[in-house]
Amino acid sequence: MKPTTCKKCPADIVFAKSRNDKWMPMDAEPAVEGPFWLDLAEDPPIARKAYPDTPPGDRYTCHFDTCAVQRDPKPAATPADDGVDNDIPF
Ligand SMILES: [Zn+2]
Repeated sequence: MKPTTCKKCPADIVFAKSRNDKWMPMDAEPAVEGPFWLDLAEDPPIARKAYPDTPPGDRYTCHFDTCAVQRDPKPAATPADDGVDNDIPF
């Protein structure tokens, strides 16, 4: 699990896959009340929802919820935008 830096703020984040195989930026720092745990048995790690009966361990928060720079409303498409965006959105 390799921390990286958010493109919009200075926070350290790690990328995990959601259960439906989407990349999710997670705060690199565990959060006590975080709604997810990271299944490190998988590579890349899978962000799984933590339930009350989930075994204790580090909890994580999705960085979309904590980013200091909130996402702008969807920008208007520009002529240079070919509609294909393979970049991870963070
Ligand atoms: Zn951020």
